[in-house]
Amino acid sequence: MSRSAGKAMSEIAKNLSKVRDRIAHAIKNRPICYDSVNVRLVAVGKTKPSSQIQDAYNAGQRNFGENYVNELVEKSRDDVLNEACPDIKWHFIGHLQSNKVNKITTIPNLYMIETIDSEKLANAVNKSWQRVEAKDALNVMVQVNTSGEDQKSGINPSEAHKLVDHIRQNCPSLMFKGLMTIGAMNYDLTLGPNPDFQQLIQCRKNVAEKLGLNELDIELSMGMSNDFEHAIENGSSNIRVGSTIFGARQYNTT
Ligand SMILES: *Cc1c(COP(=O)(O)O)cnc(C)c1O
Repeated sequence: MSRSAGKAMSEIAKNLSKVRDRIAHAIKNRPICYDSVNVRLVAVGKTKPSSQIQDAYNAGQRNFGENYVNELVEKSRDDVLNEACPDIKWHFIGHLQSNKVNKITTIPNLYMIETIDSEKLANAVNKSWQRVEAKDALNVMVQVNTSGEDQKSGINPSEAHKLVDHIRQNCPSLMFKGLMTIGAMNYDLTLGPNPDFQQLIQCRKNVAEKLGLNELDIELSMGMSNDFEHAIENGSSNIRVGSTIFGARQYNTT
């Protein structure tokens, strides 16, 4: 029996339900060219305890994102969580250093790494996934630095097609799914369309042209708590929502 069985709907379940309504509404507002695009909600639980992940799971959520390696390792090895959430799908959405790759690829129920941003990293993950002897290729996205800020990870948009080509040609244990951006924080939408989203759309167009792919076969991971509806209206298929589901995060300042 689930922990929250018999109790009133949890705060997290309520938040999730509201987010789902907002997603449905944004899908209705999309231009028809995106009719065939499914939207996957990734619930980002960083800094939040496993019990809250389980709450969301009990409310039907399956895809979860984490961006610290150690935190993901810890949660994915939590026996109580694993017992309660056998179909959980973990997305790694943080910066990945080559020396941490083996920690990530050995995580049970790892579904996707969204932050591949160099050939070196792609090769390391490919090799590591082969060692794990998983039955299916590992889903990956290429992270693109759409804001041009030096401190942001991600590959330059003009180089993205080369990395995508490399993954498709030379990394048989990886399944290329799409492009991901984090973008500038707190962009003011009253100023017009988010330039990071426009960049990612343009980047996808370029990748599709250069590699002879269909644009809509390349997913877009963009949109977070404050702009996921706007992202969906611009064709995003993978939104990463944290604080709107789990509440504001508190970081230790010590
Ligand atoms: C924290 C985080 C999110 C979620 O952010 P919210 O604003 O809380 O929705 C999404 N993507 C990445 C890469 C993150 O680090």
